[in-house]
Amino acid sequence: MKHEALHDISRLIAETSTVYQGDEQPTVSALCSIGNDAPCNMQNLEHWTTHLLTHIDAPLHFVRGGASLDQIELQRFVCPATVVDVTGDSVEAGDVPPGPLRGRAVLFRTRNSSLAVDATFDERHVYVGVSAAKALVAAGANLAGIDYLSVDRFGDEEYPAHRTLLGGDVLVLEGLMLGGVVPGDYQLLALPLRIAGGDGSPVRAVLIEGS
Ligand SMILES: [Zn+2]
Repeated sequence: MKHEALHDISRLIAETSTVYQGDEQPTVSALCSIGNDAPCNMQNLEHWTTHLLTHIDAPLHFVRGGASLDQIELQRFVCPATVVDVTGDSVEAGDVPPGPLRGRAVLFRTRNSSLAVDATFDERHVYVGVSAAKALVAAGANLAGIDYLSVDRFGDEEYPAHRTLLGGDVLVLEGLMLGGVVPGDYQLLALPLRIAGGDGSPVRAVLIEGS
């Protein structure tokens, strides 16, 4: 069998991981433990939302009546992906790969990826500018990914990147860790939980080489 390198581009779900400013820290604690009158170990995962760490946004997140994750075909979470290096303080139209992007994910690797997973929340994180969001919609991209906890600039309460992408049927994948990934073409796996009516879901995001 051909060996395909897998790159885990997900954040660790831990009490110490950086969450979006104002969100609660997730906790993993024991509900019962073997040896303490219990036949098994079972844990409680608390203080998390559908937008925990590495996660996908469905159109429903910002579009009234938009599709929820359980209404979207699985194919959209398993697709070819291009990882692009971005050096600026925002992702702009010039950073979007040329040509039609139908069925393809574009993941932007920025200086955000050099931040530790438990670093203080960075209000000046690199974000997706409106020009890039519009270019992705125009090119028919399947999904746009960013290596921080939001595609929008921190403090921008208009949420132009979310509104443009999700309004244009481009899925959003946030909270990626792309530090160890070389720019280029991969296959992306980012399957959300099958949450009824879910506006978002944590995912285990993986890039597969050689496809
Ligand atoms: Zn989100």
